[in-house]
Amino acid sequence: MKKLLLLTLSVLLLGCMALLPVTEPQATASPAPIAPEPKAGTMAEFDHGSAETPAGTTLVVSVFADDRTCSWDMTRDRATVDEVRRILGVTEAFVESLAASYGVACDLVTDFEKHPDLLYTASFDRVIGSDGNEDMLVWQYLDTLDVDALLAAHGAQHCVFYVFLNTEPGETRACATRSWFPMMPYPYEFVYLYVRSDGMTNGPAIYTHELFHAFGAPDYYMSDLNYNITDATVAYFQQNLPTDLMLTCTDPYTGTYNMKHVTNSVSELTAFFIGLTDRSELYDKLELWGCEHVTP
Ligand SMILES: [Zn+2]
Repeated sequence: MKKLLLLTLSVLLLGCMALLPVTEPQATASPAPIAPEPKAGTMAEFDHGSAETPAGTTLVVSVFADDRTCSWDMTRDRATVDEVRRILGVTEAFVESLAASYGVACDLVTDFEKHPDLLYTASFDRVIGSDGNEDMLVWQYLDTLDVDALLAAHGAQHCVFYVFLNTEPGETRACATRSWFPMMPYPYEFVYLYVRSDGMTNGPAIYTHELFHAFGAPDYYMSDLNYNITDATVAYFQQNLPTDLMLTCTDPYTGTYNMKHVTNSVSELTAFFIGLTDRSELYDKLELWGCEHVTP
């Protein structure tokens, strides 16, 4: 009987407990460490131009430029502008994923619709990019932008500028990048990006190839004594790195430009040239020099 009473009391007690609010045990762990906010860069800090490496946050600033040969009407040419933005997005995803594969945190900010402060229009009364004499005009224009404020607003450390020209497919000027060199007059690294040339619309591989120039990679398809790339080195690249993005922008599977993806490979040598890794056996084996990320 006593036992039964005890049991009944226990059941009643349990029933009451179920109705009581449940109190979670108090957490006693020490507060999680707060990661330091990455510090935004300033133009004065750049040792090797504004692009440097994919590590950290890099702004891609888009300048839609008119020159003597072509112009933009941002309303009429909306579809082309949207296509440029889409292609930049493909480049962004490709570079971020490549950097992640080397354990490097990279945030490439390209979307000028989401971030209107990354979109500019300009007009140059020259044939832009025809013989390199227009570089100074472009640098002087870029110098009118408050780049430090842009870097601060996005917490970014680096920036690259794309000068987009609304060219026709018959355009013969080739996309080119003004990347860092010692004594460059301004620190701004920029790309002349002709949206159409040689009968085609330039796609994500071209945009990315040019960006890699800004990060420090040379072309592999021609000799360049700044890097000790000789004709023999070019032949080596053709034989051993046939699909590398610095050798070719053509889709290795179709032989044409791929407009949706970057399908070219990125060798460890290229990763080394853009500062994603601090070693490349090939760089030593081919006795190359001039990598801007190597401290002498
Ligand atoms: Zn190139």
